[in-house]
Amino acid sequence: MSTTTLHQYLQHYFGFTSFRPAQADIVQSLLARRDTLAILPTGGGKSLCYQLPALVQSGLTLVISPLIALMKDQVDALVANEIPATYLNSSLDDETYRERMRALLRGAYRLLYIAPERLTSSSFLNFLSKLNVTMCVVDEAHCISEWGHDFRPSYRTIAAALQTLPERPVIGAFTATATPQVQQDIMTFLQLEKPAIFVTGFDRPNLYFGVVRGAKKKDYVRMYVAAHRGEAGIIYCATRKAVDEVYHDLTRANVPCVRYHAGLSETVRTRAQNAFVRDKASVIVATNAFGMGIDKPDVRYVLHYQLPKSIEAYYQEAGRAGRDGAPAECILLYSGQDVRTQRFLIEQTEQETGVIDTAARDRLEEMEAYCQTNRCLRAQILQHFGATDTAPCGHCSQCETPTATCDVTGDARTVFKTVEEIKERYGIATVVRILRGALQAKDRAREFEYCRYYGARSGESERDLRREIEQYIADGYLYKRGAKYPLLALTVSGEEVLRGTQTVTMPIPQSPRRRGATALPKTHAAPRKDPLFTRLAAARKTLAEKRNVPPYVIFSDATLLEMCEKRPQTLNDMAQVSGVGPFKLINYAPVFLDLIQNHPEESL
Ligand code: ADP
Ligand code: MG
Repeated sequence: MSTTTLHQYLQHYFGFTSFRPAQADIVQSLLARRDTLAILPTGGGKSLCYQLPALVQSGLTLVISPLIALMKDQVDALVANEIPATYLNSSLDDETYRERMRALLRGAYRLLYIAPERLTSSSFLNFLSKLNVTMCVVDEAHCISEWGHDFRPSYRTIAAALQTLPERPVIGAFTATATPQVQQDIMTFLQLEKPAIFVTGFDRPNLYFGVVRGAKKKDYVRMYVAAHRGEAGIIYCATRKAVDEVYHDLTRANVPCVRYHAGLSETVRTRAQNAFVRDKASVIVATNAFGMGIDKPDVRYVLHYQLPKSIEAYYQEAGRAGRDGAPAECILLYSGQDVRTQRFLIEQTEQETGVIDTAARDRLEEMEAYCQTNRCLRAQILQHFGATDTAPCGHCSQCETPTATCDVTGDARTVFKTVEEIKERYGIATVVRILRGALQAKDRAREFEYCRYYGARSGESERDLRREIEQYIADGYLYKRGAKYPLLALTVSGEEVLRGTQTVTMPIPQSPRRRGATALPKTHAAPRKDPLFTRLAAARKTLAEKRNVPPYVIFSDATLLEMCEKRPQTLNDMAQVSGVGPFKLINYAPVFLDLIQNHPEESL
């Protein structure tokens, strides 16, 4: 299909003026009826990649989506653009369910959303075989893999179910999880045929990243939330107990907030989720049980009250901010105690299973290095996902206020030289043993005691040395080779240090006395101070309540902000705003236009 035609569809159905990276290519690939695996970050705009082809091509698109609680919102968002979509799940009463089945048989819908469990029913499969399903979309496809963090066995039944259809539909698989094992599992278990694979860059330029060290966390959270009143935010905690504490603390401060964790009943959780998605509560305090499949695009901040288990988990959770592309903040509150808690949890599991979980330990150390680095935070995250060209971003707490640092080139050389001497053939543990002069029997035969810095750091603890080495990895002097037993190797920067052409610095640890008085970052979230924005948002909420849909289904924050900026004076001007398609122009835009036209210009 020609690019011009594609853009016309984009404008017509979604009101957007341009595609985001990879969207157009993914759409084309599916339209060419090629199996497609798309890996885009959270907020990258995956839904549109299959919704658009679903509208253009003939037949029905079956969308498999993990969470029943969110299906209604997903479908409402489509219906708000006058796209004929529906869902079938256990939340429907019998009459509605049968009515929808009849409409599906008549061909009244272009998209049908279901949860994977439905595919295990033979009567449902029988029904599906009458529907002319031409495309099957697997959303959150990482659920198919045990390597991912949300394994759902029922995802494994999808391929067999599709085989029962008269004709195999083209398959599109979508996820934000980029690890190779997950990618392989998706291709294998969905039986993708010569899939086209799209992976975009993982940068989210509208997100500001910050690490706050040594703050009094409760005070910080209260201050932060007060400074961002009226904005939607998620506060992630590592434990249920912490969720309850933060929740009670905010409730006492009269913040409209809800909480979410696995210890609460299903009903309570669903209610909390709905209140948050529908802007009835601006803040949700939650464990990592909350978030998958939440499409709320206008989350303006994600605070991590405690350290997550890995960079992967952190980026996924933090990435739930700012899906609409408008500015948003991701702030992690760091304390050494949290690391000890997480390490304790790992050790506990290890004792139960009797197996040392080096992978979990490494992930935690990498996370810790993120919190302690004096380099660009964004660069550090993107490097984790394999990026090599990472200049400082200028839009994170490290770039804005670099931490005071000291020169540690001498220490670094002891490590790098050792790595060089043992020919990059051993992992962190061996290097640490050599430096501490604490060799094991198996090391003796290898003559490690002849290393130049053997025992040179014997006074230091194993843990401190490991942490130091992780920091060199995070800062790009060393890297790990191989997945199962990672070996330490020198990067070009590391080699330069050995040659004496580069120095190494590390942040000076904060003295405990200075703790507590941490200032909030200057705000990077969207400028909510405009009184017009407040009025438009209020109108959006009223409209949403009347139609029983989440407010973002009417217009996203990004769209309202653009209205504030451009101050459209006619419907024609309105049509130029991104997110205002023909249907929304007629049905929703007039109310907003009226508010803008009658908004008094600020008296300066
Ligand atoms: P993902 O599933 O990849 O996390 P979504 O499909 O939920 O992301 O999209 C995130 C947000 O981005 C949604 O609010 C969507 O409307 C918006 N969006 C998607 N594509 C575009 C585009 N081309 N232009 C502007 N906004 C877009
Ligand atoms: Mg999605």
